Parts: sequence; C-alpha cells; structure tokens
Amino acid sequence: MSQTSSSPRACPLCNKDAATPLPQYSRDEWRIVECTNCSMIYLQNPVDYVALEEDYAWEKTYAQLDKERNRRKSWIKRAARQMRLLNYRMQGDPNNRFLKLLGPGNILDIGCGDVERWCPPFVPYGIEISKAMQKTADAQMRKLGGECVLGAGAEAIWDFPKDKFDSIMMRSYLEHEVQVAKILEGSMHCLKPGGKIYVRVPNFNAVNRYISGSKWPGFRYPDHVNYFTVKTLKAVAAKAGFDFQLVNRHKIWLDDNILALLTKPTTP
Ligand SMILES: [Zn+2]
Repeated sequence: MSQTSSSPRACPLCNKDAATPLPQYSRDEWRIVECTNCSMIYLQNPVDYVALEEDYAWEKTYAQLDKERNRRKSWIKRAARQMRLLNYRMQGDPNNRFLKLLGPGNILDIGCGDVERWCPPFVPYGIEISKAMQKTADAQMRKLGGECVLGAGAEAIWDFPKDKFDSIMMRSYLEHEVQVAKILEGSMHCLKPGGKIYVRVPNFNAVNRYISGSKWPGFRYPDHVNYFTVKTLKAVAAKAGFDFQLVNRHKIWLDDNILALLTKPTTP
C-alpha cells in the first residue's frame, strides 16, 4: 500500500506545477522541490492518505527516526538535549502560554496524537489520523467535554459546525498536510470571528538548516510534505483570509521552528 501519488503534486501555495528539484534535500524516491513561481518548498510525490495511515503512521516513522538519531548522537548532544528539556519543564505548564495566546473555550487540536495537553478552561476537540492515537485522545477529551474524531484533517474539519471553536492548535501538523488550502479554509469556517490558530512548523530558513544540510531535523521522509519559511507561511495564511503574527520568542533565524498566530478577522 506504500504508493506515492501518480501525478506530481502542484505547489500547495500557488497551485502552479513548475518546480526546481532540490536533490541535496531529497532522499530515496522522495523529491523535494522549490516552486519556480512562489519559492514554496514541498514534497512533490507524497503518499496518499490511506498509505499514510497504514504504512507511514507518524508514530511509527517518528519512533524509527528518533532511534536512528539517538544512535548517531554523541553523549554531548544528548546532554544538551536533556538541558533543553529541563529548561522547558522549568518554564512551567505549556498550557499557560497557550492560554495567554489563545484564550479559554473550545479548542480544536488537529493531529493531536494521544498527548494529555489540555485542561480547563479549554474544552478540547481533536482530529487524528492514527486509529490507536485517536482512541486514546478521544477518551481523554471526553472527560473534559470534547471529543476526538478519526480522519484526515482537511476532510474531517468540515464535519464541525460553523463558528464552533475559539481556537485551533496546529502544532507539528501543517508540515504533514497535503491539502494546505483546504485545511485553512475549513479552519476559517469553524473558527469564531476573532478566533486564532496557533501554528508551529519547521523553519526552512533556520540557520541550523544551512549548517546541517540534509541532516537538519526538519527533514522527515515522506511525512513532511511542506517546508515553510515565514514568507510562505504568511502567504498561505493570507490566501485563506487570516491575519498573521509571528510569536517566536527568539530571533527567527536561530529557531528551528516558526511559531505563528493566525487570526480570523472580526469583520468579513
Ligand atoms: Zn508556488
């Protein structure tokens, strides 16, 4: 079932077909390209959703890559990672930051996995493509008044009613989504006016990508199908009608990830 799409994928930002191959960042049969019209970097031959669920479930590939990386890492790198995790924990509950940025209420966590990320005053809803993770997340979310549905984000989001959510979480999600425009249009539909999306995606323009080349941790084959820069993320957001705000705490070029808030305007 591990088949790729039969025809090359058009640019997820401008929908044009012309693209320049980036062989230095491609691996095996997976072709990373740059759109010649708008400079969007993307995977030209992603797997279809069925194969993604059955053969390339994110938890499987992630676990495999994590194992590979840990084997390669020296003890110094492992120690540095532990320091970062410690620092993260000392900053306290990540919900506090989300609360400040997003506010309380109904929140939709797309590609939520099975994490216990949410607590009141959020009422958590989720969409998850992996059956095993959806089951666990659904049980957790129902305890808090929400639910987690099984499916692909860009399809399942249309099952929610208009203006249902105060906010949407797209943490480590949008880089996996083949249908970028469709998920953002669906978000526009089910967010309340003034509602916000929190987006976290790998930052293709991070200095670490220039230094590490093809070993940059943002590359994952074939899971990551979009490689955003601030410019291209802002452009896809604007195309769907969202206002864009960068919320990285540090200089953006130092950060391996882009953190952004997309706001649905209060007046259409
Ligand atoms: Zn393009």
